Amino acid sequence: MRDDDMEKGHPHGSKKGKSPHGKIDHDEFPFIVFWEVTRACPLACDHCRAEAMIEPSPEELSYQEGIEFLDELADFEKVPILVLTGGDPLMRDDIFDLVGYAVDKGIRTAFTPAPTRSLDEENIKKLKEKGVSRMALSLDGSSPEIHDAVRGEGSYNAVLRAASVSENIGLPIQINTMVTEETVDDLPEIAEKVEDLGAVMWALFFLVEVGRGEHLESVSAERAEEVMNFLYEEDLKRPYMVKTTEACHYRRVVMQRSGCMNEVGIGDGIGRSFGVSDGNGIVFVSRKGEIFPSGFLPLEAGNIREDGLLQVYRENELFQELRDKSKLKGDCGVCGFNEICGGSRARAYAATGDHLQEDPLCVHDPES
Ligand code: SF4
Ligand code: SF4
Repeated sequence: MRDDDMEKGHPHGSKKGKSPHGKIDHDEFPFIVFWEVTRACPLACDHCRAEAMIEPSPEELSYQEGIEFLDELADFEKVPILVLTGGDPLMRDDIFDLVGYAVDKGIRTAFTPAPTRSLDEENIKKLKEKGVSRMALSLDGSSPEIHDAVRGEGSYNAVLRAASVSENIGLPIQINTMVTEETVDDLPEIAEKVEDLGAVMWALFFLVEVGRGEHLESVSAERAEEVMNFLYEEDLKRPYMVKTTEACHYRRVVMQRSGCMNEVGIGDGIGRSFGVSDGNGIVFVSRKGEIFPSGFLPLEAGNIREDGLLQVYRENELFQELRDKSKLKGDCGVCGFNEICGGSRARAYAATGDHLQEDPLCVHDPES
């Protein structure tokens, strides 16, 4: 029996929310909660999932609603990791109070700022003082020319400055990189840069064509396979961990290459988890409180203004389907790797309108 079989197979024979060997049961509790605290952002990146806007919207969760939400998370028997995302979270005036409150409540909190002028030494130090455990910085090119073409002028230098400040004050960083036709040839150089910046993790997001990402070009499934094999080799030789987002079949590649699957860095967010995917360990709360299985799968399952997050996560039909691999269709439905992978449900939805269809970015033929 594989680890993930044990994890999902014995939810009632052990302490609630834990598998017998101590992992979180993703049927019971999310591992990571993303909270899009705002969509406001002064940048206008080509691929922006959030389709960011210049000003904060009055529809955003208020400070008081945010506090109640954090109280709810802190009361979970198994407290999830919280990732504060946006937009640019630094566009909220109350962001440092929210971070401090979350940390004081015992919630491990990560932060994903936009690389703007606000990401200066003073603010990074404040985040560290408030107890942020990790900061994620986006780097989509190994040089200003390549990165700024996607993110806007000055953004490359802002990332480098933020990384340097973080290193000086001992705030761990992860580097997020988007994989598209526009960035793929530069990945070997970016891999080097990630090491130079002292990052603890390199997280690669394989484009899902939602939001402004509809205007970018995905790599082919064959190219994605080459990239994953490259990432496997990088993971072996680099001091940082490598993980993929919306490309769970990296787990298959790791398993095929190594012959085993021992908690490789996988899933969205931070930390090492096992078998995490959209709606299965991951939940996303929008600026308006809407509950989604991830930031890339625009199927709303409830709203924290009216519903308990945990109840939606456990009982909503969409979330239950996403955790039930027997519901998968096409190649993902018959694939022997589907318990550890299952494909990107967000990409399947973007490509076909059916979140249970096969992931078109995977070359694996389960019947061969
Ligand atoms: S920095 Fe992030 S939120 Fe801002 S425009 Fe770029 S992708 Fe969107
Ligand atoms: S066919 Fe689907 S489940 Fe199997 S490895 Fe590919 S994406 Fe994963």
